[in-house]
Amino acid sequence: MNRFDAVVIGAGAAGLFCAAQASQRGLKVLLIDHAAKLAEKIRISGGGRCNFTNRDAGPANFLSDNPHFARSALARYSSADFIALVQKHRIAFHEKHKGQLFCDDSADQIIQMLLRECEAGGVTRWQPCTVNEVDRADDGGWQLQTDRGPVQAPQLVIATGGLPVPKIGASDFGLRLAERFGHRLVAPRHALVPLTFAAADWAPFVPLAGIALPVEIRCGAPAVGKKTRGSGEVSFHEDLLFTHRGLSGPAVLQISSFWRPGQPLRLNLLPGVDLLALLLKAKQQSRRQLGNELGSLLTQRLADTWLAIQGLDGSQAMPQVPDAQLRQLATSLQDWQLMPAGTEGWHKAEVMAGGVDTKDLSSQTMASKRQPGLYFIGEVVDVTGWLGGYNFQWAWASAFACAEALAEA
Ligand code: FAD
Repeated sequence: MNRFDAVVIGAGAAGLFCAAQASQRGLKVLLIDHAAKLAEKIRISGGGRCNFTNRDAGPANFLSDNPHFARSALARYSSADFIALVQKHRIAFHEKHKGQLFCDDSADQIIQMLLRECEAGGVTRWQPCTVNEVDRADDGGWQLQTDRGPVQAPQLVIATGGLPVPKIGASDFGLRLAERFGHRLVAPRHALVPLTFAAADWAPFVPLAGIALPVEIRCGAPAVGKKTRGSGEVSFHEDLLFTHRGLSGPAVLQISSFWRPGQPLRLNLLPGVDLLALLLKAKQQSRRQLGNELGSLLTQRLADTWLAIQGLDGSQAMPQVPDAQLRQLATSLQDWQLMPAGTEGWHKAEVMAGGVDTKDLSSQTMASKRQPGLYFIGEVVDVTGWLGGYNFQWAWASAFACAEALAEA
């Protein structure tokens, strides 16, 4: 029988960091993963450069049924702590946009850093290794049957992540195990995912595929009283990307985490501009054609296609365009309302919203309130970050809180 102080299942971001931190506190740790390749999600993250944290990460950047749950872990292990670790390992990085930190070279540097941290603590790693059964041991700890033999440990950490990208190892193992041991789940949803539209509704917009532009995007009903993220209206100022099937880009990925089926989206394709006022002024002062006037505010391709979608003649000279048409054009561009049919699904979602219900977990330690010696960390927990390095920060922070608790138990 192999005996350890703690077994961590899932050698992704949270599992690697938790195993490293616990082992460096003197625990004998086994880290198991069923995938042949190590930490594939880190490898593909941030376009291969891993947006490993966000300088400004705070509880307001996370969705959860309990918006306060992440507060304690994020305060105890902040983005500054992880940045210090990255600097200690001499990994060069840069800030790209709104506090988002990326490796200069490659995401593999973060994987190698986490491996070195595990080696420093003497973590035993079994990979690939399948966990066939998890049960209570006679001594009250945990007993696992794996394809490398049986294992016992008093403490078990579930770090098996969320459901996105099944082809690189995602599984529902953590969700099933949680339910089996009496945990409630918050229904998993696709998050940070492109949105799709009914083919007939989208057909007029297909010629726009490939166009990107900064927009304001909103969804949800305007809040009554105090406005909080997750209730009432949510809005983001980010870039939008038109695709053949619908909408993508940071603006849509951000809003997708809040969007629910049946809710319309509202888009302003010219934020910060009073388009109607500009067009009415141009009608007085400009001799240009409507298409060229609009093309000076948007790209010419977007302007021409948009006018065609609206059934407006772009060759009209500005002074001849009826006010009603200018009003129609301004509203269509600045309060574009559209109803997504769905999302691109688990193969395109960057994260899972929902997961193990935080009601059954300690926010200080990530320990189960239902099963002594059981912990859940990372994406499997109902804590979901915005786009921009927040999800990795949750993986590091929840792993750190858990590792401290493992060492103190
Ligand atoms: P994971 O890193 O997914 O690790 C889970 C591990 O558990 C995997 O190694 C898996 O093989 C293993 N596992 C699963 N089931 C089993 C089982 N039954 N038995 C054994 N092992 C199992 N977030 C950011 O903050 N910044 C980014 O730049 C970013 N880019 C992303 C890009 C893409 C394309 C995707 C898909 C996600 C991105 N994310 C990003 C999200 C981020 O990758 C995850 O939130 C983060 O990896 C979650 O960490 P985790 O340890 O909980 O899960």
